[in-house]
Amino acid sequence: MRTETETDTDADAPTEVKDAPREEPLPGFDSLGLSARALEALDRLGYEEPTAIQRGAIPPALEGRDVLGSAQTGTGKTAAFSLPMIERLAEDEAAQGTLRGLVVTPTRELAQQVERAIRGYAATTSIESAVVHGGVPIGPEIRALEWGCDILVATPGRLLDHVERRTANLGTIEVLVLDEADRMLDMGFIDDVRRIVAETHSSRQTFLFSATIPNAILYLAHQVMREPVRVQVGLEKAAEGIDEVIHPVDRAEKHELLLHLLESRTEGQILVFTRRRDTASYLADYLRDQGLSVEDLHGGRSQAERTKTLQDFRDGKTRIMVATNVAARGLDIRGIRHVVNFDVPEDPRDYVHRVGRTARADETGDAITLMSPHEWLMVRDIEKLTGEAIERRAVEGFEPSVEPLAAAAAEEPEASRPRSRLSRGRRRR
Ligand code: AMP
Repeated sequence: MRTETETDTDADAPTEVKDAPREEPLPGFDSLGLSARALEALDRLGYEEPTAIQRGAIPPALEGRDVLGSAQTGTGKTAAFSLPMIERLAEDEAAQGTLRGLVVTPTRELAQQVERAIRGYAATTSIESAVVHGGVPIGPEIRALEWGCDILVATPGRLLDHVERRTANLGTIEVLVLDEADRMLDMGFIDDVRRIVAETHSSRQTFLFSATIPNAILYLAHQVMREPVRVQVGLEKAAEGIDEVIHPVDRAEKHELLLHLLESRTEGQILVFTRRRDTASYLADYLRDQGLSVEDLHGGRSQAERTKTLQDFRDGKTRIMVATNVAARGLDIRGIRHVVNFDVPEDPRDYVHRVGRTARADETGDAITLMSPHEWLMVRDIEKLTGEAIERRAVEGFEPSVEPLAAAAAEEPEASRPRSRLSRGRRRR
């Protein structure tokens, strides 16, 4: 994996990527400048070597520098920003219990996960953390904030709600982390993020992490950061260790092909992505009717249901989860061995994020995409983004009735095609 560290003085300058010399051993956690108690926490978690983003980001962050990190999912970026933040806050024992660290994330699930990770990294200190996000009653959050914590992990809307109610004071924030900044931009949170930043003191240290760094994020970084060190890990492609394959199939046959694929995969948990909420709940019902252990996760369910579904999946109580993009980013569930894209994602970046849900932290996994003839152009966009062709392999008995190229050339919306052409009988053997 390639690492590049540079001071981001000129955003448009081409970035030089240096490979680490082969013979030299890579630096371990003990050479990054972390304290003995941080090393003890990492030891307890069983981390042996720092990941590339940790090697790149931790030393400048410990020196008090702002860090602009671009790292693909599953690279260990949570520890890369959490450890320096915890180190800094733990030093000032007199300020313990005052809100001084803030992590802003785009989704509720990610907020919960990051806060859980922080508890692990801070286990050898007396740093306390809390999480606030929409979709749950605000009362318990207010009580937790009144009780006092050092680090708050939050989604933007609910955090601003607390600011307005004066139940969270961001004026004492020393370290601010904007996590998955490109996703917050895509979700329309950027104005909320700016308002949050404006509530904090300009003397803060700022970390901004983003899978991609489009110009809008660079612009934000220049506004809210001071001479950030830029740390970039890897290229824009799915993490290593993932076998990717595309199965061309008629749209009307997808659910049967999915069932066939699920039945032949006996190892590990499976995360199935759909574009729409109703497809996710319909598919979950269909698979449940076939006797499979399935739950669905999407924005149409209450937050309590979402939290329980995710927890059951994490605990391995459910083997298959069908989800929309709410589960595409940042979720870290070790048991996932297979990701299935029931629909090709419209935004090619979502493909990279979805596929990154498997093969977490050096494990291996596979990513299967079911491509109907009219999704061919979207797949081409994904391949353009990653720079790699994904193998096409039709599954016997589920070969598409239309060649992808012919379908794309027809440029006819799928809904207007005669249904008989798409669902020409069941050819499953
Ligand atoms: P993240 O990209 O922060 O979501 O981390 C992905 C996964 O890698 C999480 O399960 C972390 O606990 C794990 N992880 C992070 N850093 C390391 C490390 N240095 N060694 C082993 N596992 C790690």
